[in-house]
Amino acid sequence: MPVSGLPPYDPDNIFARILRGELPSRKVFEDEWALAFHDISPQAPVHVLVIPKTPYCSFADFTAEASTEEIAGFFRAVGAVARMLGLEAPGYRMLANMGEHGGQEVAHFHVHLFAGRPLGRMVPAAP
Ligand code: 5GP
Repeated sequence: MPVSGLPPYDPDNIFARILRGELPSRKVFEDEWALAFHDISPQAPVHVLVIPKTPYCSFADFTAEASTEEIAGFFRAVGAVARMLGLEAPGYRMLANMGEHGGQEVAHFHVHLFAGRPLGRMVPAAP
């Protein structure tokens, strides 16, 4: 079920629990700012999630409240993950769902990286 992408932040959301090591994940990258791991239900041959280590519900509060250092550190990590996985030459899609209409299900800000085949339309046609 899509969630509100707006605060308050729930410290017991799934990604917070993965960050604390309470739930397992297939980790692909970690640094001071971010953790990246494979999505549990991949929508493409490569489907990796990159999350900041700090508690923000969505792109909205991350970009409004995080420090410049956190934002830069996080997006550098996203780029590093794509590079590390060899996604730059074939290309990839980076996506962040925000709030109900965005289809966001986990209220800890995250970026999806999709790759491994041509990804088609950016947004599905209206039903
Ligand atoms: P959202 O819709 O919030 O942008 O994306 C949430 C993503 O988290 C979904 O693609 C979903 O498959 C993934 N996900 C949900 N629970 C887990 C989990 O426990 N582990 C992992 N690795 N991914 C999860």
